[in-house]
Amino acid sequence: PEEIQGLLSTHIAEYPDFPQPGVLFRDITPLLRDARALRRVIEHWASIIPEEIDVIVGTEARGFVLGAPLAYEIGAGFVPVRKAGKLPGTPRSRTYDLEYGTATVEIAEGALETGVRTLVVDDLLATGGTAAATVALARELGAEVLGASFLIELSALEGRTRLEGVPVSTVWSLE
Ligand code: 5GP
Repeated sequence: PEEIQGLLSTHIAEYPDFPQPGVLFRDITPLLRDARALRRVIEHWASIIPEEIDVIVGTEARGFVLGAPLAYEIGAGFVPVRKAGKLPGTPRSRTYDLEYGTATVEIAEGALETGVRTLVVDDLLATGGTAAATVALARELGAEVLGASFLIELSALEGRTRLEGVPVSTVWSLE
């Protein structure tokens, strides 16, 4: 709706050439620090995601900040997917390609029960590499991934094509 689009357009800042030349970085911290805007956006987001989600899997770090209140709002639990080396025990890992180099994400062994109805959440869908790795980790533990949901989608990068078979919902789609 218009109210939510308006809140996002005024509460997401743009930084050209961050963290690298040629990248236009979208900064969600103005949204996070505005109590009313944050509440309205989380409430709206909760209304567009599939029903019957048991657990949200959120990806470090902004997938934690947004995924946890979203989980609370819909009455789901929250499981973190972390960058390499942060989880105790013997986590499962996935390494994926970035424009320059690779990144590795991890999930704790036993964090998801077999068949648990799961939604993958992050702040932003760009190329889809991070989300695809997160979906793969959740499935490896036996979760049923019912969808992936993002505050912002950069649609021109076609990240959805890396999430084949996973219904994608986004609050704000940008070219
Ligand atoms: P992807 O793997 O889809 O190419 O990139 C998405 C991941 O990188 C997400 O975890 C997201 O938090 C981060 N990311 C990439 N670009 C941006 C951006 O412009 N703003 C924010 N807030 N995060 C970004």
